[in-house]
Amino acid sequence: MAEPENPKIKICPNCGAEVPRKTKQCPNCGQLLSTPRSKWMKNLTPTEIFLLILGSIMLAIGLVAV
Ligand SMILES: [Zn+2]
Repeated sequence: MAEPENPKIKICPNCGAEVPRKTKQCPNCGQLLSTPRSKWMKNLTPTEIFLLILGSIMLAIGLVAV
């Protein structure tokens, strides 16, 4: 009998290990586990994400300042 899908568990896309859904990094292989809504972010480095956020803030300030 197959176990029902546990909503608190997700499968590591790299090694297939079951990891807690809230885990951001696979404890087995070290693969970063992104949530579906930030799927596109997994290709960005922390520096790129920082610059992206910084750019958004600068843009927001620019719009408010006008
Ligand atoms: Zn893994």
